[in-house]
Amino acid sequence: MEIKYAARMANLRASEIREILKVTENPNIISFAGGLPAPELFPVKEIKEINRLVLEESGSKALQYSTTEGYKPLRELIAKRMNNRLLTSFDADNILITHGSQQALDLSGKVFLDKNDVVLCESPTYLAAINSFKAYECTFAEVETDNEGMVMENLEKMLQTIPRIKFIYVIPDFQNPTGRTWSLEKRKALAKLAAKYKIIVIEDNPYGELRFEGETLPSIKSFDKEGYVLCTGTFSKIFCPGFRIAWIAGDKEIIHKYVLVKQGADLQCNTLAQMEISKYLELYNINEHINKIIDVYKRRRDLTIHIMEEKFPKAVSFTHPKGGLFIWVELPTNIDAREVLVQSIQRKVAFVPGGAFFPNGGKENTLRINFSNMPEERIVEGLTILGEILYESIK
Ligand code: PMP
Repeated sequence: MEIKYAARMANLRASEIREILKVTENPNIISFAGGLPAPELFPVKEIKEINRLVLEESGSKALQYSTTEGYKPLRELIAKRMNNRLLTSFDADNILITHGSQQALDLSGKVFLDKNDVVLCESPTYLAAINSFKAYECTFAEVETDNEGMVMENLEKMLQTIPRIKFIYVIPDFQNPTGRTWSLEKRKALAKLAAKYKIIVIEDNPYGELRFEGETLPSIKSFDKEGYVLCTGTFSKIFCPGFRIAWIAGDKEIIHKYVLVKQGADLQCNTLAQMEISKYLELYNINEHINKIIDVYKRRRDLTIHIMEEKFPKAVSFTHPKGGLFIWVELPTNIDAREVLVQSIQRKVAFVPGGAFFPNGGKENTLRINFSNMPEERIVEGLTILGEILYESIK
């Protein structure tokens, strides 16, 4: 066969996480790899009830085509929740419902990126965002990132000197992969730089509501007076990822461009799923549900940190996230986390090596640990094994 693929396909590789997740489908593997929510927390009983209600009350509407923008009552509810929590001032028309926030990222590439355009991102950043943007043949400039977000002096220098920057992609709350959260000062500073250099910011926030301690910080969007900041949100981590219902919110003119490209992508999101989530928000208190998730994840985070402190060599350092799903681990610079993974998979423990989260490569001595998906006894067992492997690798 001689198949003439589009040039953009040359840059695309299977995501490392997806490849590893294939191994983790084996139930004997203790997986700290994916970003999977705890399945025992899905509100299956309630969803069964709302499914029945939606079909009984408005079955023919729920099974019909609907608008690209998405189900209006759901967009209204999302705008209200965002305004309360993130101090934004959205209404339904600022919001487009997307097929996961992953689709919002892909559509961002379609709306903004021409070949050889530049995306500025945190270093490291979310692997599937890298892959999504890469399909539009962009390049990446990684901005040095400390415990409180991007180093602003470096960011500004890059904005002044790098041509063709199209947008800045950030995950300010409990970042994937590091678990770090941006400080208030850096949020303000980023909104200011976006306005000064007239650059779009994509504020991707799937984890912000999973805060275990401390105060919720205002969104970057809340400091944006000009309309350069777009926010994504999702029901994946606070409800169920299987619904694939999420959104992007921003200036109406920009959101209209997203509507145009979504029409070409898939016309609209699943009507039934949108109506079901809307019904759930109407009949149940989602904040109570989120509090249940927080209780479980906080316990798992505490346990994970405790076992890592006890069982990992002292030369290994890691972040202490105040929420979300992930901990970022740094090994001594001469240790390659991919080699550690090979041994660890043999002993039925999985994680994601950190190198893949750097779009331009490097830092192979890092890895990401997810703490949301495994029950507590498996967390202890898996991290104890990983600690033994790390001791052997580091000696
Ligand atoms: N952004 C980030 C930072 C993520 O970690 C994820 C999920 N792992 C997504 C977006 C996509 O989530 P979803 O499509 O389920 O909304």
